[in-house]
Amino acid sequence: MSCTIVNDPRRTSWVEIPPGSDFPIQNLPLGIFSTEERGPRAASRIGDRVIDLSVLAEAGLLEGLSIDVHLLRQESLNALLMSGRTRIRALRERLSELLGVEEARLRDDGPLRESALLEADHVTMRLPVRVGDYTDFYSSRQHAYNVGCMFRDPKNALMPNWLHLPVGYHGRCSSIVVSGTPIRRPMGQYKPAPDATAPVFGPTRQLDMELEVAFITFEGNRLGDRLSIAEAEEHIVGLVLFNDWSARDIQAWEYVPLGPFLGKNFGSSVSPWIVLLDALEPFRVPGPVQDPPVLPYLQCKGDHHFDIALDASLITPDGLETPICRTNFRHLYWSMAQQLAHHTVNGCNVRCGDMMASGTISGDSPESYGSLLELTWKGSRPLKLSDGTERRFLEDGDSLVLRGHAQRNGVRIGFGEVRGQVLPAIP
Ligand code: MN
Repeated sequence: MSCTIVNDPRRTSWVEIPPGSDFPIQNLPLGIFSTEERGPRAASRIGDRVIDLSVLAEAGLLEGLSIDVHLLRQESLNALLMSGRTRIRALRERLSELLGVEEARLRDDGPLRESALLEADHVTMRLPVRVGDYTDFYSSRQHAYNVGCMFRDPKNALMPNWLHLPVGYHGRCSSIVVSGTPIRRPMGQYKPAPDATAPVFGPTRQLDMELEVAFITFEGNRLGDRLSIAEAEEHIVGLVLFNDWSARDIQAWEYVPLGPFLGKNFGSSVSPWIVLLDALEPFRVPGPVQDPPVLPYLQCKGDHHFDIALDASLITPDGLETPICRTNFRHLYWSMAQQLAHHTVNGCNVRCGDMMASGTISGDSPESYGSLLELTWKGSRPLKLSDGTERRFLEDGDSLVLRGHAQRNGVRIGFGEVRGQVLPAIP
């Protein structure tokens, strides 16, 4: 069975897929779950069912893939991903085969089916990988332009380097958490007023979200080597939704001259399912024309952007949800292939389980801006919420949820969601 067959819109499963589900048989993402009875283990997902891959391995249904059961009973997917792209691709193909409507081995074995397919509501999803290094790019032109307008001036909004290289910074992996983990409002230094000369210390008054998508890598290049742009995508496992929580006042005071630090590293939230790049093949689209032309190591033929609809909603403490942003992963100026080729062009090594986030994804219309900073234009245009209140930035008890999916020919490949609630600061 090939990737083309697995992605075929006509493929159906014997597992019931609720209408509008993010997880049809064409998706088959990877994640890590646990239950009260079962320790952390590798999983896939179809419809409302989580598939315990280790149960399939024990039953001999993964035979011939050289995936030992111990690789599937770990706290992260790293060991499994170390086995490489070919084997992960074969695993997805096998799952598609076992779940296909005509396939009886799992469907007709009641006890095995009950043990392998669990209700998604009954399991706890965990961080899918032990993140090695985390890099955050800044690859949306509209976002960089908006921030440049707010903090500099519209004529020089983009810095001179921006159209020549995918700007990024090294973030911190220790505070990357899975969806559902609350985020504590950070304390820090900030200027109490724009014209103040000395900072104060206290809870951030400008807590924000950043709507991003991150990719996770297979084992990449050795130190001193580089990944060419042509081979870069072969080293990408797949994608997750990524909320890069940001404290704007702390960030504004600290960022000169070395860039983001404590305004960023108190927490980033990711969705639990890694949607494999193979599943996103049907959703490739061309990127923007890059003018001025980029240097040869960043040039590539073909379509390296992906059409993935993304949205963000703010949920007030009373549970009322207000959609605040609608955007698309295709709005990036720099592709993932360009980001990865640039990241390694100096010989920097990329390892299995590294995470690289896109940067805030903003489109060219105001409702497509991927941060409150832009949506409220630095707090000058507050958002009206369903409960009648207004927001410039996030308040204690607010939750933020990001969702994303690609859709074509009746197939919807979704990410589920990444959600997090703001807890009050500890003064
Ligand atoms: Mn960011």
